[in-house]
Amino acid sequence: MAPLQELAKEYAKARRDKKFRQQVAYYLREYVGRPTPLYFAERLTRELGGAKIYLKREDLLHTGAHKINNAVGQILLAKRMGKSRIIAETGAGQHGVATATVAAMFGMECVIYMGEVDMARQALNVYRMRLLGAEVRAVTAGQRTLKEAISEAMRDWVTNIRHTHYIIGSVLGAHPYPVMVRDFQAVIGREARRQILKHEKRLPDVLVACVGGGSNSIGLFHAFLKDKGVRMVGVEGGGRGIKPGDHAARFQKGGSLGVLQGTRTFVLQDEDGQIMLTHSVSAGLDYAAIGPEHSYLRDAGRIEYSYATDPDALAAFQYCARVEGIIPALESAHAIAWVQKHAKKLGRDAIVIANMSGRGDKDVMQAAELMKL
Ligand SMILES: *Cc1c(COP(=O)(O)O)cnc(C)c1O
Repeated sequence: MAPLQELAKEYAKARRDKKFRQQVAYYLREYVGRPTPLYFAERLTRELGGAKIYLKREDLLHTGAHKINNAVGQILLAKRMGKSRIIAETGAGQHGVATATVAAMFGMECVIYMGEVDMARQALNVYRMRLLGAEVRAVTAGQRTLKEAISEAMRDWVTNIRHTHYIIGSVLGAHPYPVMVRDFQAVIGREARRQILKHEKRLPDVLVACVGGGSNSIGLFHAFLKDKGVRMVGVEGGGRGIKPGDHAARFQKGGSLGVLQGTRTFVLQDEDGQIMLTHSVSAGLDYAAIGPEHSYLRDAGRIEYSYATDPDALAAFQYCARVEGIIPALESAHAIAWVQKHAKKLGRDAIVIANMSGRGDKDVMQAAELMKL
């Protein structure tokens, strides 16, 4: 509890501090490459024959995804708190790469925990992290994937709390993480709101984003939550279909209220509260819990949640590449799959913004194997 309380107190102070906010904005602009374009996807719109589709281009950021927004915010907070060592955990390696990147930039020691199975699957990202000067520690417990890596990172944090800050990569974990990560990602929606008002002189009808832990989606949605006319859709990983162990859609069958790794939220679990196995073609969506704010907003009826299956996502991955010349991350392809399915029904007067949370370079080898290219 002590480290969490310290962090909550320090973050509350930093959040009110104009200098801190300016510092975050400076690095997001000069180092990360913000603002990202809100791109009118002309061909996608024409081909789908319905709603006007805009893409928020987080894929153009340094390191290739939205995760760097949060990594920059948290490392500046760590610096402010006088910490000299950074730890993180990673599944697919994207958050590990973002963390190793900012640690290198600020000259901090960096240790990344990663399941042994994930290290083998994501060897390129392991090499990237090492190149950036981080130590990648293999986790060999349990299933040797993300869940075990998180437990290991938590163990490290409580042992080395004096000099160490733990950068969590999504809107998960105990308070203040879900709030803090959401705040650092909310820049996506603030920009998008300003940009769409400039392009279209009105608010969009629908926002769509994929939901792993839920940071890119809440990042896009947050600035629009009070705009009653804006519909919001979160797309979870439907995997091989909604059967136990075959998906990662926490709001579909198998998901219920529970606690996992410091978060009380919807969790994929059996009747005994044992965490279920999950599957998604996209490693970034493959986790048994969803950020608690999503559970709240879903119960409040403010955000609706859908899912895309692995084949839907793979088809959207290829479609987006061919029609727009943009190779999306497999995660982001889940949002595109929803757009593909619904654009026509929404009609030509509708405006949709889909969050392109990351670029697909990391997924090309996997997609080539799956699609037998
Ligand atoms: C990690 C990741 C996600 C999923 O995480 P969220 O916290 O739900 O955003 C989605 N897209 C990309 C490109 C990612 O790297």
